[in-house]
Amino acid sequence: MSYERIAVVTGASSGIGTATARELARQGFHPVITARRRERLDVLAAQIGGTAFTFDVRDPAAIEDFAVWLRDKFGRVDVLVNNAGLALGREKLDVSIDADWVQMLETNVLGVARMTRALLPLLRAAPSAHIVNIGSTAGIEVYPGGAGYTSSKHALRAITQTLRLELNGEPIRVTEVEPGMTKTEFSITRFKGDAEKAGDVYAGVTPLSADDIAEAIGFAVSRPPHVNVDFVVIRPVAQAAAYQVSRTMNV
Ligand code: NDP
Repeated sequence: MSYERIAVVTGASSGIGTATARELARQGFHPVITARRRERLDVLAAQIGGTAFTFDVRDPAAIEDFAVWLRDKFGRVDVLVNNAGLALGREKLDVSIDADWVQMLETNVLGVARMTRALLPLLRAAPSAHIVNIGSTAGIEVYPGGAGYTSSKHALRAITQTLRLELNGEPIRVTEVEPGMTKTEFSITRFKGDAEKAGDVYAGVTPLSADDIAEAIGFAVSRPPHVNVDFVVIRPVAQAAAYQVSRTMNV
């Protein structure tokens, strides 16, 4: 009987998560795709031959239910891509909104910690496994108006590095991918539906595409099991730093 590898991708209803699920399906994984928007997951699942499960990564009980369902259905997980995440707001700290901080920290930090904790027994049940956390250049830099988001992605970086130390000696790889400016629904979410502000982010720049990031994830996942890609930073060439973007390059 052939061995079907199972890849769980969170935040697969949009952007980087959708592209990653497609890439992993292309590599022969059975993608288990998750997010809150069910209709989108159903469409993607039908296209790539995956299985959809709907939940909010801020809900610990829902994560536990998902882990039980996964265990009963597949018995193990080969790859976990912790991708679900968001930025909310660009206000400076003195006027930033508590509820935005809470949602970012619950999603980007606690969501990843809880997902990883819940799925580790299933990752340990695979012959070798891989955890890929989607961080951000906001995990290695800060910028004005970004304290909530950058602190969440700095925390994610600390979690990822800690995990690699704690899992040392087990056949579980841990990778962190740090995208720079990538054109997805990210900015629309950040600016709470304001399409003009979201559009300004990409003005005069060729941003990364979700596929650019999915290819990097696919590269890390497809290395032989003894090779761990620790950390990948990918930016558009026009973006030298989070806050320094050339808008006249035409590249
Ligand atoms: P999108 O907004 O296009 O996708 C975000 C995904 O996360 C959606 O599928 C959304 O699904 C899911 N999600 C958000 N909140 C929750 C939640 N509480 N529970 C479950 N799923 C949730 O953005 P991107 O594809 O760009 O973002 C993916 C990751 O990449 C994020 O972690 C982001 O921080 C990171 N990133 C993005 C960059 C960019 O410039 N785009 C740059 C650096 C990092 P749904 O709403 O259906 O639940």
